[in-house]
Order: sequence, then structure tokens, then C-alpha cells
Amino acid sequence: MTTKTIQQTARIIEIFSSIQGEGIYAGQPHLFVRFWDCNMKCHYCDTDYRGKYQEMPLSELEGRVAQLLAAEGPHEAVSLTGGEPLLWWRFLTGFLPRLKALDQRVYLETNGTLPKALAEVLQWVDVIAMDVKPISATLDRDYRKQHAEFLEVALNAPNPVELFVKIVVTPETKDEELGECFELVSSAGKHTPVILQPVTPHGPVTLRPSAEQLRRWLQQGRRHLYDVRILPQIHPMLGLR
Ligand code: SF4
Repeated sequence: MTTKTIQQTARIIEIFSSIQGEGIYAGQPHLFVRFWDCNMKCHYCDTDYRGKYQEMPLSELEGRVAQLLAAEGPHEAVSLTGGEPLLWWRFLTGFLPRLKALDQRVYLETNGTLPKALAEVLQWVDVIAMDVKPISATLDRDYRKQHAEFLEVALNAPNPVELFVKIVVTPETKDEELGECFELVSSAGKHTPVILQPVTPHGPVTLRPSAEQLRRWLQQGRRHLYDVRILPQIHPMLGLR
């Protein structure tokens, strides 16, 4: 149990029921809680993470989640998303025990750059969908050190936590850089599943990687790791959000 002060409110952009659109659980019904703000600035970002929000107390968010579950039926998990939900770890230390009391699985969608925050909430998390971010795709700073520390924390969790890694790839992604991402993940654990997610054209991003690039990267990844797959975002295909 954390001894740190629990934050009583968080900025919530939206709470909604939908289908998980990414990663190895794509297609499952998830209830999403979208938190405000992010510590990164990815070139391909399609989320208005500093948009309109509601400052929501713990009990109100718990009530809204319970209400939605009652109205929409059971969901596979409550997905914490953003922005970057771990920016709100002081709030999550109060909110996640309440989700557990509602008998919910906790699915954390994270950019994988805040290892200390992860350590604070890990005990309540069931699945971590972690991004590893090649700089050529994000055009942001180098987060390899933070990713390595994050993997270390996630893979040494005291409780059973499922981890998979998602790497968004673009036509500009370089083989060498992707190789470094594979090495980063494999040096922490060769069994960690890695999803190569072709970027979804949006805003300044107009092209996807070619089929030839994807085939090459898949083979490259499988030289480092046991489970590498290519999976696109399914929401644009289904007209969902
Ligand atoms: S980490 Fe996610 S939310 Fe943040 S800027 Fe990148 S894509 Fe957008």
C-alpha cells in the first residue's frame, strides 16, 4: 500500500464503452477512461489530449464507470488511456483499488516513459500495453532509457501482470532504429509480445509503410523476439473510435 498522498480529482476527457482497437486484445469490449495531457509530442498523434476535460473526483469517476457497466453490460477490462494516464498516478492509487472492488480488470495503455509512476500503481494493473517509440516515428526526444527502466519495472512486478509492447512504424522508420527497439525489448525479456502497428494516416501523416518494409521488419523482429506481429489499428476500418 502506498504511503503517498492520494490525489482526489483528475482531469478526465471522456468515459465511454467501445471496442479495443489496438494490440493483442483488439476486438474486445473495453470501457475507456481517457485522461488529460501527455508528456510526449508524437508527430502522428491523433488524440486531442489537451482538449476539453472535466475535473472529476474519485467517487464521481467510480460512479460513472459503475453506471456505464450496468447500462452496457460486462466489459473485458477498463482501459486507462490518454494522453498518458500515468501522469495521474497519484489519482490512480485511489481509483484503481475502487475498480478492483468493482471486480474489473485494469488495462493500462501507456507510452512507457514513466517507470516510477508505473511502480506506484503496478499492484492493481492486469495488462500493460506499452509503447516503444522510435524517434523517426515520433519526431520527439529519445526515450530509450525511460523505456528500458519501464520494462524492468513491468517485468519484475510482484503480482502477475501481462505486458506487451506496441511500436508504431511509419515509412520513415529505419531498420537500424527498429533493431535497437527490438534489442531493448529482448534484453528485458524475449517472450514479451511485440506488435508492429503501421501508422494510421492522419493530419501531417499521409502514408503507411509499404508491404515490403513490413515483411522485412517482421523477419528482423523475429531474430530478436519469439512473438512479433503486424497488426493495424482496427477502429478506422470499422468506423469506430
Ligand atoms: S504518447 Fe500517445 S497521446 Fe502522447 S503524444 Fe504520443 S501518441 Fe499522442
